[in-house]
Amino acid sequence: MPLLPQSSPPPTIDLYTLTGTQDTTATFNEHETLKTIFFTASIGSRNPMAPVVGFFGGIHGLERIGSQVVLDYMQSLLYRLPWDELLLKQLEKIRLVFMPIVNPGGMWAHKRANPHGVDLMRNAPQRAESPVPFLAGGQTLSPLLPWYCGKPGAAMQTESAALLKVVREQLATRPFSLALDCHSGYGFGDSIWFPYAKTRRWMPHLPEMFALKNILESAMPHHDYSFEPQSKQYLLHGDLWDHAYDATPAQNIFLPMTLELGSWLWIRKNPRQIFSRHGIFNPVKAHRIKRVLRRHADLLDFLARAAYSAPQWLPIGDRRIELTQQATSFWRTRRA
Ligand SMILES: [Zn+2]
Repeated sequence: MPLLPQSSPPPTIDLYTLTGTQDTTATFNEHETLKTIFFTASIGSRNPMAPVVGFFGGIHGLERIGSQVVLDYMQSLLYRLPWDELLLKQLEKIRLVFMPIVNPGGMWAHKRANPHGVDLMRNAPQRAESPVPFLAGGQTLSPLLPWYCGKPGAAMQTESAALLKVVREQLATRPFSLALDCHSGYGFGDSIWFPYAKTRRWMPHLPEMFALKNILESAMPHHDYSFEPQSKQYLLHGDLWDHAYDATPAQNIFLPMTLELGSWLWIRKNPRQIFSRHGIFNPVKAHRIKRVLRRHADLLDFLARAAYSAPQWLPIGDRRIELTQQATSFWRTRRA
């Protein structure tokens, strides 16, 4: 049984063709802890000062389309390696890290939560500073109810700890890193959310995030992403990206983002899929899966380019102060 729904048979990838240059050698790792196996892959510069982009998916086991977006991008990179000189040049200067299925047990069991009933995106220890939506903002009542944060005071779940370890060791140690974590299921439109989820206060790197939004708009003027702090939608207990962001050494810039693919449009176009558990969170028809994969590939590629050229757009000095003002007025006045 295929792990992920496929619109067409997957081509075979010969990993041995990837050993072309020293700097661009791909590495694939299996991490086995407590019977959970995580797969990560990385490719590109081994220079510890090189910018890194991390791509994550499958934190919620039902949201397979997020994993597909990441796997699709990995596949495209692998096929471009033998001929795309620009890509090789890019990979000499940046590193790309992939963790496409953070919650393999949940995906195997067709569940949002992990096998212990914990919603990994509510599992970090921090609590929201203001009231959260009932249950959906994270609850500690029971793993039998959705959005369970885990037992208060208990160690984080293996999957959450594994994701945070990847971020801590491979992203947050670098002077500059970006992360994109792909989800689905909320709203009609596609959103890019960034910390914080625990508070309505601004993240310290708000001007950097605003600069990234500006260059995204100039590079992809027809994109439909709503780009805003998660707190403009609702607050959450235990968001892993809040936690990872706060744990980043102060001298480094780490900009984590969550891509939330709006699934309500897929449901409106094909209402019968609401009766399937996967149908609520994933496009079902093959042409729609293709369209989703096509639409978001540019975003992933854009982030790799943004990392490569980070010194060109990261604000410093007066420009940073100016962008802080623009960002706060832009996001303050935006309706949630
Ligand atoms: Zn999700």
